[in-house]
Amino acid sequence: MSSTETVKKPHVEPSLIAQSPFELRVDLGRDVSETDVRTGLATGDVGFLHSYTTGSTVDGPGVRVVAWTTCCHWRCQYCHNPDTWTLSNGIPVTITRATEELQKYRNGLKIMGGGLTLSGGEPLMQDRFAVKLLAGAHAMGIHTALDTNGSLGARLSDEELKHIDLVLLDIKGWDPDRHRKLTGNDIAPVLEFARRLAKLNKAMWVRFVLVPGLTDNADDIAQIAKFAASLGSVVERVQVLPFHQMGRYKWKSLKLDYKLNDFQPPSIETVRNVCAQFSALGLRTE
Ligand code: SF4
Repeated sequence: MSSTETVKKPHVEPSLIAQSPFELRVDLGRDVSETDVRTGLATGDVGFLHSYTTGSTVDGPGVRVVAWTTCCHWRCQYCHNPDTWTLSNGIPVTITRATEELQKYRNGLKIMGGGLTLSGGEPLMQDRFAVKLLAGAHAMGIHTALDTNGSLGARLSDEELKHIDLVLLDIKGWDPDRHRKLTGNDIAPVLEFARRLAKLNKAMWVRFVLVPGLTDNADDIAQIAKFAASLGSVVERVQVLPFHQMGRYKWKSLKLDYKLNDFQPPSIETVRNVCAQFSALGLRTE
């Protein structure tokens, strides 16, 4: 080989389907120009996805396809998918491709009483793409759920919220200082969005990640339970999600400062006790 020849790396098209969201994915959209990113975000004609995964039984009713979007403006200390924080880590996909991919699962999802769940990252960082994908799913008769930290709910009009059958609303804490320390952000917009959803009679599952020593303040949990109960029967259930360490390797690979190395998952008994706090106020838990 002469010195003027260059070695070409084989171009491998990343698969949109992943075995699980715990696959580390970086830089898959790095070649998209800034102008194209801006246009994509403004129109929703192009979005950035970490992946689609299939077979979820926890992200809404039935068996579901989950579309994992990239980009999040929060920095939760327990985040298990920090590779989804950065938009350009995702695969750039046209809305047509994203919808066609979903189309493949349409019949199966209906038979299994499932649907599409849009998760992330924070899906509403790509709110135009989210609306188009959810509307596309609805047009196919597919049940839709949005898993969100709730802080950007104001980006969706009441009309657009009609494309969402269920909101999986993460309430990560209560005390404003502790919430800010945990996520880097305020809780007020989350609660405001929850109240708005309740007014619109939108079905919700409230999600709470239980980390012993970090999110298990008894008063905070009592206040979250009281708040969830005050929203009424639109809160169909509360999911108490036990902290785990499956995302730790991503923090390490991305050279991020992970503060929870020494934290342990809660015991079954601890999870049961927290569930009981919610159940005591008439909320269904799991
Ligand atoms: S809101 Fe979700 S994706 Fe964003 S940092 Fe928190 S846990 Fe991670």
